[in-house]
Amino acid sequence: MFRAVFDFLGQRYFDHSYFASKSIAMNILVVGGAGYVGSHAARCLVDAGHGVWVFDNLVFGHEQAAPVGRLIRGDLHNRELLSGILREKQIEAVMHFAAFAYVGESVQDPAKYYHNNIVGSLSLLEAMRTARVSKIVFSSTTATYGVPETVPIPEETPQSPINPYGFTKLAIEHALRDYAHAYGFGFAALRYFNAAGAHHDGDLGEDHDPETHLIPLALQVALGQRERIAIFGTDYPTPDGTCIRDYVHVDDLASAHLLALDRLKQGEGLQLNLGTGHGHSVREVIDACRHVSGVDFRVVEAERRPGDPPELVADASRARSVLGWEPRYTEIEPIVRTAWNWHSRHPRGYAS
Ligand code: UDP
Repeated sequence: MFRAVFDFLGQRYFDHSYFASKSIAMNILVVGGAGYVGSHAARCLVDAGHGVWVFDNLVFGHEQAAPVGRLIRGDLHNRELLSGILREKQIEAVMHFAAFAYVGESVQDPAKYYHNNIVGSLSLLEAMRTARVSKIVFSSTTATYGVPETVPIPEETPQSPINPYGFTKLAIEHALRDYAHAYGFGFAALRYFNAAGAHHDGDLGEDHDPETHLIPLALQVALGQRERIAIFGTDYPTPDGTCIRDYVHVDDLASAHLLALDRLKQGEGLQLNLGTGHGHSVREVIDACRHVSGVDFRVVEAERRPGDPPELVADASRARSVLGWEPRYTEIEPIVRTAWNWHSRHPRGYAS
């Protein structure tokens, strides 16, 4: 990745060809920056010349995924630790990725989700108030929409989540709106569709335990680590009967975070969908995984997974117009290729 950092009138600017933006370098705390999307964003920030610190409890994050020497291990609930770090490192903006994100588990154990995702996030916001840091980019989700009536889904779609995970993310979106109004916070709530793929350098990728997502599971079957992949539901009202999702590359998510950082304004908030606007069915994704891996692995048909809407595709026009964001990956095969590059070289994830 090409980067030129230069001094201009005493301030540090960077010119970054990937993001085509010019921006003042800042000190950023990336909360949850050792996780899947957070680590890609942290890498992107470092590449762009920002001063980056990662704060992560490593429950789901991986030490190796954080920029070297920049990881601070700690918990979101430790408000004093957080406000101390914000002050000591002279943090100017926060990116907040830390959350539990298993939809099924959120139904089984909502207390865990409300406590971590809401109470933990509020602790972070209070630490920010104490330290007078008021800019934040927050990871939100398509799960805040529940089962939308129309597809593609614009941001104005009523948000009515159907599981505790979605509620916790929506609650923090509301808190951010109120904090912007009352305390002058500037925020961006970025609603991800299906994050997928791996870093183009090949050394960051998806490593969840347990893994529940379609692409890594299918590629694990291709690697012989699992026997088969099950298609959850083949009788949906879609052309091939399987669910359609909007798979957005994790590098593209990261670049959107960088662009959003430049647009944060005190007292204002941005709510933006991050998707490509293109949908792919489960069968199409599995075909792409077979084609890219060159392995004709076993696929079985199974019951629907509770809570899966038939089709979730973003109307992503607002992120394009507001941020000037252009996802580089809009087709499924190139996305799967980056994921295969990661999984085939790291068959045991970061432990490889
Ligand atoms: N899916 C599937 N088999 C699996 C895992 C997922 O058929 O083993 C389907 C799932 O029902 C959904 C799509 O693949 O329609 C994407 O699921 P994933 O868990 O990757 O992301 P989600 O859409 O739940 O965020």
